[in-house]
Amino acid sequence: MSSSTSNTRTVSVIGGGIAGPVTAMALQQAGMEPTVYEAFDGTADGVGGGSASPPTA
Ligand SMILES: Cc1cc2nc3c(=O)[nH]c(=O)nc-3n(C[C@H](O)[C@H](O)[C@H](O)COP(=O)(O)OP(=O)(O)OC[C@H]3O[C@@H](n4cnc5c(N)ncnc54)[C@H](O)[C@@H]3O)c2cc1C
Repeated sequence: MSSSTSNTRTVSVIGGGIAGPVTAMALQQAGMEPTVYEAFDGTADGVGGGSASPPTA
């Protein structure tokens, strides 16, 4: 009897901000199969004014 089951672990990541996709990339690099779920049904185009990261003194 043959089996088509996979040992790849599937993971749900909640939130498509910056943390969600970055977490999903890390999980994928670790051999898992992540899916990102985002409540907002559009992109954030035109929202906000960018991100600034001042250097530490
Ligand atoms: C006005 C403002 C200005 C800022 N300026 C800067 C800056 O200049 N530089 C900087 O470094 N940081 C800045 N920040 C902070 C930065 O935006 C946050 O630290 C960063 O966005 C956090 O990322 P996150 O992915 O953790 O959360 P979020 O970006 O909040 O993403 C979380 C996502 O999860 C989704 N979600 C929530 N609940 C669910 C659910 N149940 N199911 C599915 N999806 C869900 C939300 O819709 C959202 O898209 C600013 C924040 C604000 C409010």
